[in-house]
Amino acid sequence: MASILLVEDEEKLRELVKFWLERAGYRCSDAANGRTALRLFYEMHPDLVLLDLALPEMDGWQLCERIREVSQTPIIMLTATGEEASKVRGLQMGADDYVTKPFGFPELLARVEAVLRRTGHPRSGVAGQPLDVYRYGELVLDVQAHRATLAGAEIKLTPIEFRLLAFLMQHPGQLLTHRQILEGVWGETYVGDIDSLRIYIRSLRKKLESESGPDYIATEHGLGYRFLPRPR
Ligand code: CA
Repeated sequence: MASILLVEDEEKLRELVKFWLERAGYRCSDAANGRTALRLFYEMHPDLVLLDLALPEMDGWQLCERIREVSQTPIIMLTATGEEASKVRGLQMGADDYVTKPFGFPELLARVEAVLRRTGHPRSGVAGQPLDVYRYGELVLDVQAHRATLAGAEIKLTPIEFRLLAFLMQHPGQLLTHRQILEGVWGETYVGDIDSLRIYIRSLRKKLESESGPDYIATEHGLGYRFLPRPR
């Protein structure tokens, strides 16, 4: 089972998150400040770091930087509401994802699982391997058959829309930056063409999401998109 280093100076939150993580089957060590966190990081070589931004002594940025100097261990930032600039900075500095406070445990767990899965620590056997069929809610995408259905009815997708949807469904729950999507779907030469991406996302949404039905694609403003494995 994966090990997690939790860095959070608010005692109550730290204890609660640790309790949740251990109950979900993770090994969890915790630190209340950056110095202890770094010491524990070198000692335990965690599979993932949950990192609060506002910490005494050494803040989350500095800690993230120190960790990135020596390792690619995935980092999820815990940020406060409205810290859009912080999120961008965190991702630029090498954080893998972020969770905004206040958060519920299902959300945190989904992010932890998604990050561990893509960095090669699957919780269940098939994760990390490309699948032939992706199924979330009423949406099913069959890669081999090149076919997508919603509640059993076929959705007519253009080749690019199909690749875009496949890329999103292959990364459930994960924040995908504009750059990652453009690279993954179009290839490196198209990076920067965020306007085209917006147009394709809009047309994909029209086909997937009716006015009354659930949303499958969440917009992360200024950052990118996230496919919702549990549509809302
Ligand atoms: Ca704090």
